[in-house]
Amino acid sequence: MLIHEYQAKQKLQEYNIPVPKSHLITRDEEIIHVLRKIETPVAVIKAQVHAGGRGKAGGVVVAESLLDGITAVRRLLGSKLVTNQTGAEGKPINAVLVEEGVNIDQEFYLAFTINRSSQCISLLVSTAGGMNIESKEHASSIHQYDVDPQIGMRDFVAIRVCQDLMLPRQDWPAWISTLQNLYRCFTENDALLIEINPFIRSKEGKWIALDAKMDFDDNALFRHEDLIMLADDRQQTESELLAAHYDLSYVSLDGTIGCLVNGAGLAMATMDAIKEAGGEPANFLDVGGSATTISVANGLDILYHDSRVEGVFINVFGGIVRCDIVAEGIIRALQKQNKDLPIVIRLEGNMKEEAIEALKAFSSNMDFVDDLDSGAMLIVQRINERK
Ligand code: GDP
Ligand code: MN
Repeated sequence: MLIHEYQAKQKLQEYNIPVPKSHLITRDEEIIHVLRKIETPVAVIKAQVHAGGRGKAGGVVVAESLLDGITAVRRLLGSKLVTNQTGAEGKPINAVLVEEGVNIDQEFYLAFTINRSSQCISLLVSTAGGMNIESKEHASSIHQYDVDPQIGMRDFVAIRVCQDLMLPRQDWPAWISTLQNLYRCFTENDALLIEINPFIRSKEGKWIALDAKMDFDDNALFRHEDLIMLADDRQQTESELLAAHYDLSYVSLDGTIGCLVNGAGLAMATMDAIKEAGGEPANFLDVGGSATTISVANGLDILYHDSRVEGVFINVFGGIVRCDIVAEGIIRALQKQNKDLPIVIRLEGNMKEEAIEALKAFSSNMDFVDDLDSGAMLIVQRINERK
């Protein structure tokens, strides 16, 4: 579960990590009243959306006068921000954070994340913080450390970080305590990712978190009531909310081909095959290894409800799940659809013949294929034929 920057900064403060003084605006009436509280020569106006890349997309504005500030907040509040991380739809800006400006001397990158391959919590740091950290030439500047959760974030690791970043001695205490506090914040809240970019040294020599991103493990939310309160449904697409309601594993993507697959690995392979065939998946949808008639029908409903979807590819491997049960779900969903989309189906395994027979009896408008790659190619072709 992602939270907003302003919420993440409140969390950081709980862990004694300094952030700029700030105020939140959610309504037009508050704009001037809040901006007048800013005591620094510039105010930094920041759109609150669950996505990074805001700086480059006009979602972060350094306002040098009250009037500039008012104009920026008015423009942002209530609009949608499209960044390289939001997808073409963008995310609604329901809140704007107004911060006191900070004089930046140097920007650093700092993050903790779960590293499944090393079974550790990875610490990532770089002197190339700021908006260009993702560019290729900076990749080599990122230092990575595996922190064993059994041992915790010890001084010796923090000191090595300071040495690797070639920080002057006077900066070491601030870094050591920040790393330890942030690590504690990460583990105590069951985070998947905490990223501070930029973590800056101000011209006055203070260390401050200017931005913060936090993502928490949904499966651990039951023991963090305070985190559940921070959820913001408005940052999710309608399809994502529907899928969560139906207990399906779903992620919206930017393409036009709706995918319904059982198993996360097969779903990934299906998206790869679609891309390989020259198409773009509209979503990742895993109905699970134990798919039922109802979960398949709900999944298909979501795909048909999504106006961007121009064709559907169903790829199911019948292991535990029986193909005829899946077919029943497909029929149930299509019976109430009046939308006519090309649909390509690949069913393999348990009760495959019975399933295909039932589907063919129901409609002559579907294509059946025997393998993943030909299915991906055929759905791309069917969509192109209609253009
Ligand atoms: P992101 O693009 O979504 O990651 O948004 P950030 O919160 O990281 O802001 C983007 C950039 O704006 C930062 O990398 C900083 O360079 C700049 N920025 C943010 N706050 C301040 C501030 O108080 N003063 C100045 N001068 N720049 C700031
Ligand atoms: Mn940032």
